[in-house]
Amino acid sequence: MKWQRALRKARASGQPDPVIQDLVPLSINLDLTTACNYACDHCIDWDILNQKVKHDDAVLRSQMRELAARGMQSVILIGGGEPTLFPTFVDFVRFLKEDLRLQVSVVSNGSRNDKILEIAPYLTKGDWVRLSLDSGSNDVFQRMHNPSKKSLTLDEICAWIPKIKRANPAFQMGFSFVITWQGAERDDTRVVENIQEIVEATKRARDAQFDYISFKPFLERAETGSEVMDPAHMEGELKKVIARIRESVDAAKALETPTFRVLESTNLRMLLEQSWADYTKQPRVCHMQALRQVVNPHGTFNCPAYRGVSYARVGGRDAYKDRSSVREAVGTTTALLDNFDASVNCKEVTCLYNQVNWWLEELCSNDVDLDAMQIVSNGRDTFL
Ligand code: SF4
Repeated sequence: MKWQRALRKARASGQPDPVIQDLVPLSINLDLTTACNYACDHCIDWDILNQKVKHDDAVLRSQMRELAARGMQSVILIGGGEPTLFPTFVDFVRFLKEDLRLQVSVVSNGSRNDKILEIAPYLTKGDWVRLSLDSGSNDVFQRMHNPSKKSLTLDEICAWIPKIKRANPAFQMGFSFVITWQGAERDDTRVVENIQEIVEATKRARDAQFDYISFKPFLERAETGSEVMDPAHMEGELKKVIARIRESVDAAKALETPTFRVLESTNLRMLLEQSWADYTKQPRVCHMQALRQVVNPHGTFNCPAYRGVSYARVGGRDAYKDRSSVREAVGTTTALLDNFDASVNCKEVTCLYNQVNWWLEELCSNDVDLDAMQIVSNGRDTFL
């Protein structure tokens, strides 16, 4: 914020741009691999899966060391492939936890819960593992995810959860459910509808000892490369489909217990309140791209909504691997702060960070005394 303010002041008075220190993201999404053993009909990263590009384990560890030494707090092992397929997945999690003392979370498709059981002892309070399951029945699970092991069932996946919880109850285990509707498509593939399974999935998640189930709406990739919510493709009357989702999510909420929560994502709230257009008006500068980035085998990008998109590129997959590469990535990040016009590029995106970006923009443009602001932290959640 201080640098942005100084930059704007310097430019207004015709002075040279102020130098920025080694500012690195507070949190990253780290896509360990592009390999995936499912072929999900609703996969947003379809075009960048199962490619030859790979991380080099030693380089990746060096990147994490450099980032952690400069203030990075947390890593989400997620997307663009199945993280547990990374050859050194278990030791890599141990490295992040024991050597670098970072907060770690994992988003997995649930096919290799033996690996989740192996990392369980390293995870601590505030960490989480979320399985993308999106269904309540074995039939819908298999039709939506097309696992390479054809016999894999939701029953088999969920049977691991009590074992994992017994190994370490300190971290949260989540069941993730992307809500899909008739008319939803990925390229020319029709996506299987699952609204009718919301309640069944919730019962299953609760009975399997997950700590929560979280619901979010299906996203599509727009022509600009960004991930967008486009309910215009819903078949049937929009209001009626939304009412069906609302009714099912409310019924799911009635299944909450003191140890099991039902969560609605910000995107889902936007859909149900039909307020998504409000979140597509972004400030010109996206401040979040300096605070949270994505490291993927295809390169390093400014936002999870722009994996693999060339104009959102911060650097190669080895960005931040040493001092000179940190300087380079800081340079491209500041260039993106300058040139990536979020008010144009993200005008179709229902951005989760919309409000925080506007708040940060306000702090940059007015005279609030930043030093007088109080830093409030719950001390354990640094994921962005
Ligand atoms: S405005 Fe939102 S969607 Fe666009 S780059 Fe920033 S965080 Fe991502």
